[in-house]
Amino acid sequence: MKITVWNENLHEQKDPRVTANYPGGIHGFIASILAEDGHECRTATLDMPEHGLTDEVLADTDVLLWWGHIGHRLVDDAIVEKVYNRVQEGMGLIVLHSGHHSKIFKKLMGTTCNLKWRHDARERIWVVKPSHPIAAGVEDGFLLECEEMYGEAYDIPNPEDVIFMGWFNGGEVFRSGCTWTRGNGKIFYFQPGHETNTAYHNENVKKILKNAVKWACPTVNGAIPVQKFAALEE
Ligand code: ZN
Repeated sequence: MKITVWNENLHEQKDPRVTANYPGGIHGFIASILAEDGHECRTATLDMPEHGLTDEVLADTDVLLWWGHIGHRLVDDAIVEKVYNRVQEGMGLIVLHSGHHSKIFKKLMGTTCNLKWRHDARERIWVVKPSHPIAAGVEDGFLLECEEMYGEAYDIPNPEDVIFMGWFNGGEVFRSGCTWTRGNGKIFYFQPGHETNTAYHNENVKKILKNAVKWACPTVNGAIPVQKFAALEE
């Protein structure tokens, strides 16, 4: 499987806590997790020509992961359109943490994707759909000692599956792991991953990312065509 991990890579340039948590940046760290399963992993960042998402790279990507936060508005609309079209064709898309407000996620969802938030909460993640392949081998009710709270109401279209529910020590709850299909493309949103916390070091989170790319890998590739269809019977 061919995976591209995209990160705006902006916090890494100004906050030493982020590179202390994630040497090589969040993109490099996530790519190293997924490479453990033998996937071909490349990274792409905002500052690269075409944000590193050229036609060649997108055509050669089975699953794209997206981490963005303070640079959403800097992402070129033409690139968003290309990613959108690749998802329709079948490329898997995994949107992480503050990527909920990325142009690509909002375009695919068609809603504001707004939510409640505050820093530094303790989170428990419950598996609410144990039969889903993304939940395979994930410990029920696992704990993240410090993570950013994202809370309901979360303005998303009804997910096809809610696999994980987050509970925070302020009492808030959140649909932390949700799936949708758009065209042939499978989409997974996963909430943990604030840049100054360490969620991607958690073994359950790593397992979820590994399961998610396998689940999102295309089974069909190519836009669903418009066809004139002959009648089967006279
Ligand atoms: Zn955050």
